[in-house]
Amino acid sequence: MSSGFLTQEDQHAAHNYHPLEVVVTRGDGAWVTDVTGRRYLDCLAAYSAVNFGHGHPALVKAAKDQLDRITLTSRAFHNDQLGPFVAALADLAGKDMVLPMNTGAEAVESGIKIARAWGYRVKGVKPNEAKIIVADGNFHGRTTTIISFSNDEQARADFGPFTPGFVSVPYGDAAALEAAIDENTVAVLIEPIQGEAGIVVPPESYLPAVREITTRRNVLFIADEIQSGLGRTGATFQCDNVGVVPDLYLLGKALGGGILPVSAVVGDKDVLGVLRPGEHGSTFGGNPLAAAVGLAVVELLATGEMQERARMLGERLQAGLRSLIGRGVVEVRGAGLWAGVDIDPALATGREVCEALMQRGVLVKDTHGSTIRFAPPIVASEADLDFAVAQLDAVLVEL
Ligand code: PLP
Repeated sequence: MSSGFLTQEDQHAAHNYHPLEVVVTRGDGAWVTDVTGRRYLDCLAAYSAVNFGHGHPALVKAAKDQLDRITLTSRAFHNDQLGPFVAALADLAGKDMVLPMNTGAEAVESGIKIARAWGYRVKGVKPNEAKIIVADGNFHGRTTTIISFSNDEQARADFGPFTPGFVSVPYGDAAALEAAIDENTVAVLIEPIQGEAGIVVPPESYLPAVREITTRRNVLFIADEIQSGLGRTGATFQCDNVGVVPDLYLLGKALGGGILPVSAVVGDKDVLGVLRPGEHGSTFGGNPLAAAVGLAVVELLATGEMQERARMLGERLQAGLRSLIGRGVVEVRGAGLWAGVDIDPALATGREVCEALMQRGVLVKDTHGSTIRFAPPIVASEADLDFAVAQLDAVLVEL
């Protein structure tokens, strides 16, 4: 039954992904159903875009109500959804202003433009000399500028020429970061936890040190919380977990509630205020449908319940996964309900383990060789998590 869909995709969709061979047709909370009626626990949650589960009633209601009213005005006119959304999101983040966009990569691109404009107009950097420091192993998206500062050759090969103005330093090394700063440096752009690199958690002192250095050297600190933010790590932002407030938050994925793409740059007026009419924009950015769903997401997070649940469930998941160390698992890293599990490469590739887990009703995805990422929706139950760990245990025993 699945084969027709697989053939159509194979023949007519560009081959830029290598999906597991499951064809999903429905989702409900933490579970999805395939076209044959088989159910799976979704332990990827669309790379954390479905943090609040499939079909969350409050988010679906916000979308349906708005669908019946108006979905798109463009920013040529005002709409009655954008104001409440940006006010609520700014408040959640403790910042003044929001630049609404659509995809994560667009939020990153926007953050880069804002930092450069801030550098020239506020810091006084000479025209076209602005430099942004990034970290080795980064993943910020797939546009030509963003891949210009990736170290992943697969992401870059045959896509040059690249955008200049970026310097990459080892992740987690604050001294290396400070050494790379010069008078042209406008920003440091980092993921508080590197997701695509394999849920790489830096030393606890790293982000506070980055904050101290960037403040002292008059450089913006841009935190890409597109995957780590909005509840996943047991806090609104992973920066909260280490007591740090960046100058700009880049948000995406879960901001659209798993319903539509919604992203944002969030910061104070002295930075975001550099943008002037006509300098930047997006036809769909800030559209009423996105704003209505985004507001419902912010309202979910404003109570703190999702963050607390992710923290509590995360402890259970991480403990369960750690119990498999030495039994096919080499290391477990993570924060909140987000775990990177390194499988012993002598036993199997990450892909092979994901395929075996799929046969046992658990959907996860490998990232980089032998690492598997677990990021189930925060609405998952304790029993769901125990089920996921038990299935991984069973798969490892069979290897
Ligand atoms: N930044 C981070 C940290 C991400 O994890 C991702 C996507 O995985 C992006 C940016 C890009 O987001 P999008 O795929 O919506 O463009």
